[in-house]
Amino acid sequence: MSGIFTKIVKGEIPSYKIAEDEKYYAFLDINPLAKGHTLVIPKKETDYIFDLSDEDLAEMMIFAKKVALAIEQVVPCKKIGIAVLGLEVPHAHIHLVPINTVYDIDFKQPKLVLSAEEFIKLTAEISSKFKA
Ligand code: AMP
Repeated sequence: MSGIFTKIVKGEIPSYKIAEDEKYYAFLDINPLAKGHTLVIPKKETDYIFDLSDEDLAEMMIFAKKVALAIEQVVPCKKIGIAVLGLEVPHAHIHLVPINTVYDIDFKQPKLVLSAEEFIKLTAEISSKFKA
């Protein structure tokens, strides 16, 4: 049975899509730590990120870099922090989180509650900055 992120890739569950290519997909985290918090996933469902081949892991990180460069043009921040947890959803993903302090990427912090309009605006702005 397909996991939730595979359903997102297939369009069976909606997502705020930032970018995709043949092998990778980026979308806004629905419970963000910061505005612009984005998840990057391989389209092929694999639970543990370090089970990816060297080539796929490298490609995924390069795709994540392009997404990060788009996010930082839209969300003012010092850097885009990256984190990999995968404790909740067993489909490898990289969290890209705009950060100004270490606390901004502390997953124990309360999540932001954004309106659909805010998610839609962020999606449009960030995706328009994405360069393949
Ligand atoms: P973790 O597996 O611990 O890295 O956490 C999974 C992340 O996926 C959490 O930050 C969730 O907010 C996020 N998430 C779960 N379901 C969705 C969804 N349908 N759309 C966007 N983000 C999601």
